[in-house]
Amino acid sequence: MANIILETFGSAVFNDRVMRERLPVDAYEALKKTMETGRPLDSGVANKVAAAMRDWALEQGATHFTHWFQPLTGITAEKHDSFLSGSRGGSPIMEFKGKELIKGETDGSSFPSGGLRATFEARGYTAWDPTSYAFIKENTLCIPTAFCSYSGDALDTKTPLLRSMEALNRSASRVLKLFGVETKGIISTCGPEQEYFLIDRDMYARRKDLIYTGRTLYGAKPPKGQELDDHYYGMIRSRVQEFMRDLDRELWRVGVMVKTEHNEVAPAQHELAPIYNTANIASDHNQLTMELLRKVAHKHGFKALLHEKPFEGINGSGKHDNWSISTAEGANLFEPGSTPRENAQFLLLLCAVIKGVNEYQDLLRISVASAGNDHRLGANEAPPAIISMFLGDELTAILDSIVEGSEYEGKKRLDIEIGVDVLPHFPRDTTDRNRTSPFAFTGNKFEFRSPGSSASIAIPTTMLNTILADELDRFYNELSGAENFNEALDELIRRTITENRAILFNGDGYSEEWVKEAERRGLHNLRTTPDALPHLLDPENVALFERQGVFSRTELESRYHIYLENYCKMIHIEALTMIEMAKKDILPAVSTYVRKMSEVVSCARSIADVECGFEVDMIKRLTSLSTDMYKKMQNLEQLSESCGGIEQRDADRFRDVIIPAMSELRAVADEIETLVGEKYWPYPTYGRMLFAVE
Ligand code: ADP
Ligand code: MG
Repeated sequence: MANIILETFGSAVFNDRVMRERLPVDAYEALKKTMETGRPLDSGVANKVAAAMRDWALEQGATHFTHWFQPLTGITAEKHDSFLSGSRGGSPIMEFKGKELIKGETDGSSFPSGGLRATFEARGYTAWDPTSYAFIKENTLCIPTAFCSYSGDALDTKTPLLRSMEALNRSASRVLKLFGVETKGIISTCGPEQEYFLIDRDMYARRKDLIYTGRTLYGAKPPKGQELDDHYYGMIRSRVQEFMRDLDRELWRVGVMVKTEHNEVAPAQHELAPIYNTANIASDHNQLTMELLRKVAHKHGFKALLHEKPFEGINGSGKHDNWSISTAEGANLFEPGSTPRENAQFLLLLCAVIKGVNEYQDLLRISVASAGNDHRLGANEAPPAIISMFLGDELTAILDSIVEGSEYEGKKRLDIEIGVDVLPHFPRDTTDRNRTSPFAFTGNKFEFRSPGSSASIAIPTTMLNTILADELDRFYNELSGAENFNEALDELIRRTITENRAILFNGDGYSEEWVKEAERRGLHNLRTTPDALPHLLDPENVALFERQGVFSRTELESRYHIYLENYCKMIHIEALTMIEMAKKDILPAVSTYVRKMSEVVSCARSIADVECGFEVDMIKRLTSLSTDMYKKMQNLEQLSESCGGIEQRDADRFRDVIIPAMSELRAVADEIETLVGEKYWPYPTYGRMLFAVE
């Protein structure tokens, strides 16, 4: 029998195999060099690559090409051009030149720029990223590209990620040289685990809140939630199974190595994880995954919800960013080694991460900040907003003993001489995953658990690469000038652990005590997006990004404004949607129901002297509740009218005034929902949305 993976995997990708087959040797070699070193392609080679790509794409049935990019709206963008460039004697001429491959112009004015693009210069340009393969989606050749303003400022998530990878390559290579390691380069790798909800498409279509905002703004708790834990790894229902099979196939076709799919903790929630890849490719693939998730779900009569918190009272969705660094030859550098040299190198890299996470907690928090994710962080279902690091008991004990020369595990005195001794073997922490920690070492990689399900992993990964690069630069400066390398290394590692202990925490991140303890330790607790964002422009953060060539100050300012604007607009839309739903659907539904009850009462009483206890009670309670709800709606309406801005003070007001007013309105509406007859209720209930899929 034909094997579906062998047959489909990468079949829609202009990958290395296709390139080798179709490109002249010199062009192939030149392109490879560009991919490895980032050196620009000369136009002769670009033309050859473009011609080969065009021929291949046409054979695959493609009619159009597009520069596929990731603006800061969070979704991918594309502008399609057809290959058709004219005709000769009635036959079409299909053209695609090197310059069209390498650079495209686009009217960027409708994408957020945070003030970077003056209105008279609305154009942006897209530039091919040859390190990520082109692929065919439907009938279009998609060319992964970076998106910049005409003055070269980054307007996307890919450009800074590529810059941070370059920075890390530069700094980590130098440090490894001190250990005698020669490598063609250092790359960062990512494997994002993607959570999502799947609900029936018809029900989705009947919920304005889901349509406008991606989450439910009203909804009473169903009798059954996730308390039975019967969904996690539970049997995948057949319709969902078919969807997953189809999705796998679509993802394999475009070269995404999806590996595992299973149900998550919440009902109707699922997770999908790929095999890790180079950060840049992993990030492109995750964007593609989110896109195909939506598309394939639609085909199967589902709606895939990627919002961080679609349902109140039910766990939200995250996206764990598993992150590591490796040599171009494939050696994972966060893998503890088996020789003294490898161990010393591992400890140094570990220390660089510890120090980086400690010094730049705020940047990690900012990299996952969004209105949607604010519902998860710190809500006892996802890590808290406080950034800390979990190393597991074993590794922590080893670090302690390095600092103190103390006993390890109460057994024997462990006085590790760094660079001379081998680390004691410590088992990979598979049992105790401590899911309450935002940033966990999981044996040979780090798992950053705070990112939200709809976010781009490029942003947190950019932060991680940059802070690691910067710490390694400082380490390099200290070590390269040392007279005795081993002594200097030993001293540096001990000092780093001692000075950055505050960030290490193996306990329960959900607990109230941790919040207090973290405060004592002086850690940041940036609870909401408006709390976190201003720190992007803190002098030490700006200096870090400029030093590493990842963001200019102007680019950071623009990003700060874009994120702030997204936050304000999102909450504003939510408030307006709540008002509309209350006014046009919920309150009228209550009236209809009350009228029905009143009719029953007067009709029944005209026949006999009856009590009508239920009906009378409902009439009383519902009219009282609906009056209350109406007042709360008017209050929200009034408050929203005076909130329209997109500055810091506006964001603060949305957080402090609008969100509480929304919660108050919701609370009454949800109580009303529990009283009104189901067939009178204008929206599918939580129970139906979460449990109705077969
Ligand atoms: P689990 O968390 O279930 O034990 P794994 O540890 O195999 O599963 O991986 C979880 C995720 O981490 C997967 O997406 C995987 O590809 C990714 N991952 C594994 N190794 C690395 C690595 N070296 N760099 C980045 N991601 C990795
Ligand atoms: Mg995991």
